[in-house]
Amino acid sequence: MIEYVARSGPPEAMNCPAFVCDICRKQVVSEGIVTWATTIGRDGDPGPHRQTPVYVAHKGRCGRALEVWIERTYPLDDGWADLWDDLGDFVRQLAYNLTHAFEDDAEGTYHPHRLVVPKEIR
Ligand SMILES: [Zn+2]
Repeated sequence: MIEYVARSGPPEAMNCPAFVCDICRKQVVSEGIVTWATTIGRDGDPGPHRQTPVYVAHKGRCGRALEVWIERTYPLDDGWADLWDDLGDFVRQLAYNLTHAFEDDAEGTYHPHRLVVPKEIR
């Protein structure tokens, strides 16, 4: 997830936002993925759709372990489908959306969703 990591030392103590791997709990730098699950796309479901928080993992072993956890926590037979994106692409889109409101997109439709947080958080 995105978390604040406390830092001490000059010039001053601060809290630093960072991507932290939801499997090994180490900082993800450059090479990583974001992954989440959604029920968007089910035929005949009027919504609002369900969506999970966005999780973060290192590419490779951590990413595969996170996928297993998501599929166990948000099962396919309950309508969930897991998705992922490259961390760099995620950051670029997030930065774009910081200054571009969805309501200003005359051609797109943005669908509401209900956030589903598991009782057990990694
Ligand atoms: Zn990791």
